[in-house]
Amino acid sequence: MKEYGNFIDHQYVLDLLEHSKETSDEKISAILDKAERFDGLTPEEVAALLTTDKKEHIQRIFKIADKIKQHIYGDRIVMFAPLYVSDYCVNHCSYCGFNCKNKFQRTRLTMDEIREEVKILEAMGHKRLALEAGEDPVNCSIDYILECMKTIYDMKSGNGEIRRVNVNIASTTVENYKKLKEIGIGTYILFQETYHKETYERVHIAGPKKNYEYHLTAFDRAMEAGIDDVGGGVLFGLSDDWRYEILGLMLHNKHLEDTFGVGFHTISVPRMCPAEGNDLSGFHPIDDATFLRIVSIIRLAVPFTGIIISTRENSEMRKELIRLGVSQMSGGSSVDVGGYSKRERNTGSQFVTSDDRSAQDIIRWIMEEGMVPSFCTACYRKGRTGDRFMELAKSGNIKNVCLPNGLMTLKEYALDYGDEQFQNLANQVIEKHLPNIQNDKVRALVTENLKKLEQGQRDLFL
Ligand code: SF4
Ligand code: SF4
Repeated sequence: MKEYGNFIDHQYVLDLLEHSKETSDEKISAILDKAERFDGLTPEEVAALLTTDKKEHIQRIFKIADKIKQHIYGDRIVMFAPLYVSDYCVNHCSYCGFNCKNKFQRTRLTMDEIREEVKILEAMGHKRLALEAGEDPVNCSIDYILECMKTIYDMKSGNGEIRRVNVNIASTTVENYKKLKEIGIGTYILFQETYHKETYERVHIAGPKKNYEYHLTAFDRAMEAGIDDVGGGVLFGLSDDWRYEILGLMLHNKHLEDTFGVGFHTISVPRMCPAEGNDLSGFHPIDDATFLRIVSIIRLAVPFTGIIISTRENSEMRKELIRLGVSQMSGGSSVDVGGYSKRERNTGSQFVTSDDRSAQDIIRWIMEEGMVPSFCTACYRKGRTGDRFMELAKSGNIKNVCLPNGLMTLKEYALDYGDEQFQNLANQVIEKHLPNIQNDKVRALVTENLKKLEQGQRDLFL
């Protein structure tokens, strides 16, 4: 078995942040010009953007983030929902409501309960789930997770089906990642929480997650096992330096690119939220202005990596963020185990959500904002993962599939779950965006497929 080691050089990060303070205006301009060409940025270039506080630089960063979002992702926002299957956890993470010191009735869903949850999620129109579970090898083993995935994929209700199951479970072995790959994992998601080792060891008080290196090298083992879509993230506000965390993300991404030829498929940007039983006084909450900078700089640095936000963010912040580069968001979410079928149940929550609108209200709102809510899972279904996905993304051709698939899945959603008023709005959005498909043949195919959907065909994608 290969041994993977720590690739975050603490002193290098500190030196980079210190020396970057001296970056000249000319150099910053050149870095921003490079970002504007969608070329992505090196960790050194990112450090220079992190350490400038000049208003004109920050304004230009926002403008370029908006441009990248428009150019690469267009107006689509991909929808997903989390599904919490177990809140058993052997770890004591000081910031999380599921931590083992928090006393509440722990739950693990039975397969029947999972079917019940999935039925509700399918009735909301979701096609893409993020399966979430705490770490407990006894009460929530890898076999249980595999059984959950199989149950989810097998559960069809009306025209509803889950077409991609992303999985967010604790760092594990190559052997277990191989099992997840075999059963059809979408993206393997794992947040580093903080790249700052001293903070990491302080906030992870006890349990296997306390091992910084083992957690940090999870994606190495996942990629060795053949999982080529991995999604990273940090919990902003855990450490006292958000700049350090962004550089940590960049070094992690570079390490994966250098070692496996492909970096993060997605980056999630949660920030500290209150959770039951936790005292947040020792943390470093991120204000809104800083948060917008964080998302924009990540957008410039890794233009082809999806950025995900959850319902931790309220509707106003979500509105700002979708302009600056967020490409995926959850909607109608419950962060309780069994929460969709028993929203009133009084179990512990991992964190508190801020956007409690229903999935359809969020979808309508995205359309009213002039954007296209998308339920697309085509890349996964077509085997466009890992470097095959990145090739398509970097060539710029991803746009030729994302918008068409977005429009077709929106039509499918409206027909299956919308009333007449909703369908009219969806049709207006589709008509408005159809001319934006540049390729004549693709546009003609989508027009034909939209009719086929009206005639009852489903699951049409490019
Ligand atoms: Fe458990 Fe994850 Fe919460 Fe830590 S963050 S207590 S590992 S569920
Ligand atoms: Fe995502 Fe691929 Fe669909 Fe585009 S075509 S929205 S990248 S799954």
